Amino acid sequence: MKIIRTVAEMQQLSESWRQQQLSIGFVPTMGFLHEGHLSLVDLANSCCDRTVVSIFINPTQFGPEEDFDEYPRDLARDEDLCRQKGADALFYPDQREMYAADFSTWVQEINLSKSLCGRSRPTHFRGVTTVVTKLFNIVNPHVAVFGSKDAQQALIIQRLTRDLNFPIRIVLGPIVREADGLAMSSRNRYLNPDQRKRALALYDGLQKAAEAYEQGERQGEVLKGLVRDRVQEAGGIIDYVELVSQDTLSEVSAADGPVLLAVAAFFGETRLIDNCFFG
Ligand code: AMP
Repeated sequence: MKIIRTVAEMQQLSESWRQQQLSIGFVPTMGFLHEGHLSLVDLANSCCDRTVVSIFINPTQFGPEEDFDEYPRDLARDEDLCRQKGADALFYPDQREMYAADFSTWVQEINLSKSLCGRSRPTHFRGVTTVVTKLFNIVNPHVAVFGSKDAQQALIIQRLTRDLNFPIRIVLGPIVREADGLAMSSRNRYLNPDQRKRALALYDGLQKAAEAYEQGERQGEVLKGLVRDRVQEAGGIIDYVELVSQDTLSEVSAADGPVLLAVAAFFGETRLIDNCFFG
């Protein structure tokens, strides 16, 4: 596996693969890899000849009060995991390589980015869409793989790819969970054992809503209430519980078509997200 630290080298490698008619799959991450990330590497491997994983903790997607400085890092372990998974290249640029000191160009999606996480993290998706655009231009993949754990992010990236005509197929992987159901996240490591136990309420609540949906319940207030009650009982502080259309991410009152039930809540200082697609 090649470890690549510069934009120029990554672009050259990608170009040389393309000249050999090899297809390139790309998995962008912020590192501190877990099975959720690795499932995306498997997906990329399964549909492409070469797989690139990037690790870049992107400062522009963190708000001023957020956890950029504390975000967990373990490059040596990440490198081993990528190698074991059969990735062909690990792109690991530093901040100066990605952002010139006088960087002044943003890529912004202006509709889907406003709801859900966009409300409490108003500059987050602008950072995501900007860095993903840069990474697409650097890695130049045929396929890029994202996790539905960050469902809003994935839908925004699909929109970005369509709107800016990137010739890239976006593939979404399912949420990978711990044995007890908690969605895997690099941020889970912030949780103390008590918070870790209580955070399970996110999944429990979504499961309850999914069962109700299976039994025919379609009312948004009821489905959201099942999640809200469970999270609150467990002492979680809710940022949002929303039922939104999968197309527009705007709120809907009933789960009649394809919808997303999404939740964000704090357990201690740690903000966790989870979701479930219906229809
Ligand atoms: P991150 O390192 O948190 O930026 O995540 C990198 C990619 O991994 C994103 O596409 C995430 O949606 C995806 N991802 C993170 N956690 C999970 C998970 N538990 N299951 C599936 N994909 C995930």
